[in-house]
Amino acid sequence: MHGRHHTAQVVRFGQDFLLIDCGEAMQLQARAFKIKVSKISNIFISHLHGDHYYGLIGLLSSYSLGKRTTPLTIFGPKGLDEIITTNFRYSNTKLPYPLNFVETHDDGLNLLLDNPRYEVYSFPLKHRLPTTGFLIKEKHGLRSMIKEKLQQNEVPLAAIQSLRQGMDYKDDTGKLYKVKAYTHPLPPLRSYAYCSDTIYNPNLKQFIKNADLLYHESTFMDDNLERAAATFHSTAKQAAEIAKMSQVKKLLLGHFSSRYINLEPLLEEAKTIFDNSILSEEGSTYAI
Ligand SMILES: [Zn+2]
Repeated sequence: MHGRHHTAQVVRFGQDFLLIDCGEAMQLQARAFKIKVSKISNIFISHLHGDHYYGLIGLLSSYSLGKRTTPLTIFGPKGLDEIITTNFRYSNTKLPYPLNFVETHDDGLNLLLDNPRYEVYSFPLKHRLPTTGFLIKEKHGLRSMIKEKLQQNEVPLAAIQSLRQGMDYKDDTGKLYKVKAYTHPLPPLRSYAYCSDTIYNPNLKQFIKNADLLYHESTFMDDNLERAAATFHSTAKQAAEIAKMSQVKKLLLGHFSSRYINLEPLLEEAKTIFDNSILSEEGSTYAI
């Protein structure tokens, strides 16, 4: 509606592509925006309302046509496995790639994916169906050595290996190599929190605190406060209040009701509470 499609976000971390929710026609929109969906390795579905996963069958089928062979994992609520399996059984579709399902649970913070450079967690949202948000947290990689220090001193290989992992090293003669002296300070770790769909819920703070970027639904404006509560959605002002209390760095608003043609008033409303708010726009990229 009004040039806006349903929710689907591709999060790129290095060479890894993660897909969060998969609204209708996702693979067609991805093609229009030149996003390489073939690189997606893990898909995270927040809940089973159609506007968050009706694009999944299309995407999975398009992988078959593209002769995908690399495995794909889908994380989602109970029932998603059955929906997809049934669909492919009746269409007599045999996928040429391994497809794994991992059931998500809305009972707390759960680690879904643990990579050397980042972790993905689910956490509970309050909506009309079992729903989870997702949190992507960067992990520290190996430390980088200070080149001048290496040139000035003869540093044994074992010491370098230890220092890069953040551990001081003592050689046979008792000489101590300190991490602080030989390596650059670690850069701050980045994180991204995704909250859609949910009623206003201050308990979210514990899961998304200090996130660099928070995506929070803002289906309505505050003049529709009652409607937001009745449908288990949030207003732009409520999203901003969650951002403020969670001390995130930036708020990305989304999931706008089709009743709003012009979205500027939603942004203005959010900014009265949390200034560093922006509107999510289809096809746009947000760097963290
Ligand atoms: Zn929903």
